[in-house]
Order: sequence, then C-alpha cells, then structure tokens
Amino acid sequence: MVPSQFENELTVQTHTEAGTMNEFHAAYEAAVEDVRAELGDTHPLWIDGEAVETDETFTVRNPGDADQVVGEFAAGDETNVDAAVAAASTAFDEWKATSIEERTTIFRDAADRIADRKYEIAAMMAFENGKNRNEAMAEVDEAIDFLRYYSHELEKSDGYGGDVREPTPGQRCVSDLQPYGVFGIVAPFNFPFAILVGMTTGALITGNTAVVKPASTTPLVAHTFFDILQEAGLPDGVANLVTGGGRDVGQPMIEHENVAGFAFTGSRRVGLKIQETFDELDKRGPVIAELGGKNPVIVSDEADISKAVSGVKYGAFSFSGQKCSATSRVYVHEDVAEEFTEQLIEETKGLAVGQPETQETVVSPLIDEGAIERYDDICESAAADGTVECGGSHVERSDLPEGRYVEPTVVTGLSHDHALATDEHFLPFVTVHPVSDLDEAITKSNDSDYALCAGLFTEDDAEVDTWFDRIEAGMCYVNREQSATTGALVEAQPFGGWKYSGTTGKFAGGPWYLQQFMRQQTRTVVG
Ligand code: GLU
Repeated sequence: MVPSQFENELTVQTHTEAGTMNEFHAAYEAAVEDVRAELGDTHPLWIDGEAVETDETFTVRNPGDADQVVGEFAAGDETNVDAAVAAASTAFDEWKATSIEERTTIFRDAADRIADRKYEIAAMMAFENGKNRNEAMAEVDEAIDFLRYYSHELEKSDGYGGDVREPTPGQRCVSDLQPYGVFGIVAPFNFPFAILVGMTTGALITGNTAVVKPASTTPLVAHTFFDILQEAGLPDGVANLVTGGGRDVGQPMIEHENVAGFAFTGSRRVGLKIQETFDELDKRGPVIAELGGKNPVIVSDEADISKAVSGVKYGAFSFSGQKCSATSRVYVHEDVAEEFTEQLIEETKGLAVGQPETQETVVSPLIDEGAIERYDDICESAAADGTVECGGSHVERSDLPEGRYVEPTVVTGLSHDHALATDEHFLPFVTVHPVSDLDEAITKSNDSDYALCAGLFTEDDAEVDTWFDRIEAGMCYVNREQSATTGALVEAQPFGGWKYSGTTGKFAGGPWYLQQFMRQQTRTVVG
C-alpha cells in the first residue's frame, strides 16, 4: 500500500482529534449557539478588497426553520461583475508573478484559520443549507484538505515549471504551464464551503485571479472564506465575491470578454450552457465543470445484504439525497431482491429526519420551495406508475419548526427507462429494480448519460473484477457500507465523472486537477 504523500496534513480525523465524542458534540453545539446569535446581518460584495453595498439585497432563510433569517446579502448585477472582473484583471500581473512559496503560504494559512474555526463554519451550514453535523464537519475538513493538498501538489511539481533544455548547441528551450487570467467560479448550494474553496483555490494557487459567485441560497459560508483569505494575506483584487442570482451575476460572468476560464459545479443544464456560451463567444479557455449524476448501485446475489442496505440507505438519503453523488437507482439480483428491499424499507423508515443541528439527524430539510415541489411531483408520478414502498410525504411533527422536511422514499415497480429512474432529482428518492444477473445489472447501470459514481455489493472477487472492467463511472466503490456512492476523500479518492457528469475527465482533489487551470508555453531562444 502506498501511503498518502501528505498524510500528516490530512484532516479526516476531526472527530477523534477533538478528544472524545462528547467533546466533539459539545464543541459543535456551543458553535451552533454562537452562530445563531450572530445571524441576520447584512453582507456586502467584496471587490478589490473593498466592501461594496448594493441598492437591492436578498434574504437567505434557514431551510429548516421558515422564521429564521440567516442574513441579508447584496444582490449584485452586471455593473458589479464588470468591476469585479476589472479588479481581477488588474491584480493578475502581480499575482501570477508571486512565487510558489508566497502562494502556498497564504493557502496553508487559510487552511489553519479554517481549522481553528471548523465548528463555527459547520454550524453556519446547519442554518444556511441544512447540513447535519457530521456531514458539515466532514465538509469543513474537505475544504482544509483541498487547500493543503493543492499547496502540496503545486510545490511537488514546482509550479508546473520546466527545466531548460539545449536540444542543439546554442538553442535554449523551456516549456511550462502558465495561468490563463481571470476565472469565473460558480459554486453549488450542497457543498457551499468545500466545493467553493476547492474550485477557488484551484484557480488562484495556479496564478489566476477570480470572480466567485456562491449559490444564492448559500452566500454566508462563502463570505467566511473570503474573510479568511483576506486575513491570510491574499492581495486585494485576486479574489472577488459577487453574490446574487444566476441571471444577474452568473450570466454576465460567463459572457464577460475578460473572463478567460470557468470552474463550475452544479446541474448538467447549466454546465452545458456555460460550455455552449464559451463556444458561441469563441472563448478558448477551459470550462472545468462537475455536473450531475444518476448513480447506480448493484446488489449481487453474492452480497452481504446488511452491508448493501446500509450503503444504499446512507448513499441515497444522507443530506436528503442533495448530492450529485447520491445513490439513486439500485439493481438487485432477483434471488435477493425481496430480502434486500424489505430490509431497506425497514431501515429507511428508521432514519432520523430532523433539524440538521440535532445529533442524530441524517435526513435534513430540502433547500428550497422548488425542491419541495419537485419532491411532490415525483412522488405523485411514482405512485401512479410504480409502488411507493415508504416515504412520499412531508414530515410535519410538533417538535419540528415549520420547514422543508420530507420523508426518504423507496420506490419499486418502475421500468429501468422510466423518467424517474433516468433523471437526476437531487432529492431523497431511490428506485429499486430486480435483475437476473450481473451482466444485466452492469448493462443497465451504464445505460445513462451520467457516469459519476457507482457502487457494487458482492463478496465475490470475480464479480468485482468484471464490474471494474465494465462499469462506466468516474467513482467506483465496492462494499462501502457507510455510503454506497458518496463521501470521497481528497487525494485518496479524487472526485469527478465521465460522460455528462463532467467536462474534463480530471478530478477534484486529484493530481491532475490543477493543470486544468493552466496552459502550456514553450519558449526557445537561439544564440
Ligand atoms: N464530493 C462529494 C461526495 O463525494 C459530492 C459532491 C457533490 O455532490 O457535488 O459525496
């Protein structure tokens, strides 16, 4: 086994690091109370190191408690985007000339500052996007890992510099990678901290500057990252934060002539639109996009059924399935289908739905009204065309504030090509399909435009080999009972997809991620 090259810097151990589990929970709960007391402030844009107020603001509310205002945020527009791009363009020349050491010092310092505030940032997510405590803590760890791992990679490769060569006497050549200029970064609501930090760090550490737009439901943790970058010494204008809507902020960013490249994580529709716009405007820079998934799991007749049930339950329903990596369809061997499905239904009914900050919560609220409407629609269609085995309704309990809580839902009886089994929903919803053998299961798994994550449960090594040979997915997991398809770790499990699940085939948290933010130049001098 090859040990991690930056093992000493990895943070996957938050829980044990905190001492006992009791200390961990006490620290998190104290942070929740501190954050709760601070909610409701008004937050500006950050352009060229300055706070910029706007005439219009938008309100972010806690998805799990309709009465709670998380904050008021500046609603940016095209003028703000222009100013942010101008600041980033001006900052570029000086920033690209900084040494690797200067840059990694800033990003490592940012990682340390995040580590010092990790309970606070995790607690913010409970209020902002409804992420439960364990997953929120893991997300903050992931952000720290991105910062440290990319710093490590940049150093290891010497900034992707090249050695001087003399192919013939008097001819001196060097070929290296260089930044493009200004990157647009648009981040998703479901990993509002880790993914925003990862993409922004990818762009900046390689010498680009950036304009960053968080999802309009999750600007608070983005603000915290910007505060931290400033404290860590990032020069003004290198990163600029413009909060607001897709049409008012995202679109002008994509179309701006001085935005050279784009990093995006989100829906396939928007990701492909960004690529199309780049093509139409004849922009030659990269669109580094992580898109959706429709992640299949195969349960073989050689599987340990309780492992498979556990893996599917957490893969499909943790954070209410609002992950592009969520398990969404299961192909189970017909000989074990009944046993598997019965156990899955039983255990799904036992999953704790509740407020994210509550210790046992696994299934937390949905992000917005649109998600609730989509949940209602797909459950209605599932009941009409198949069997809703459990779930399908809103959760209204006297101990819960009014919020967007819904039941995790298991559906059977749908054909493999039914829209519910082919489209991404981003909801706590999984379909189960009996199959006659592994071959059929693999063929059906691969019969999708998406190819992000896939899981297999079997105790038979030959089946594992066959599956690895044939499965089309960026992320392939065998017998993962903590979660069949979600929860990739930086460096050990670089994350990304094939087909319509991504645009570049190079994965976040992996050794080829940073090069995508750069282009090569070969320089030759004769004489
Ligand atoms: N990296 C995350 C995971 O492994 C998923 C990211 C996403 O859903 O956008 O679960």
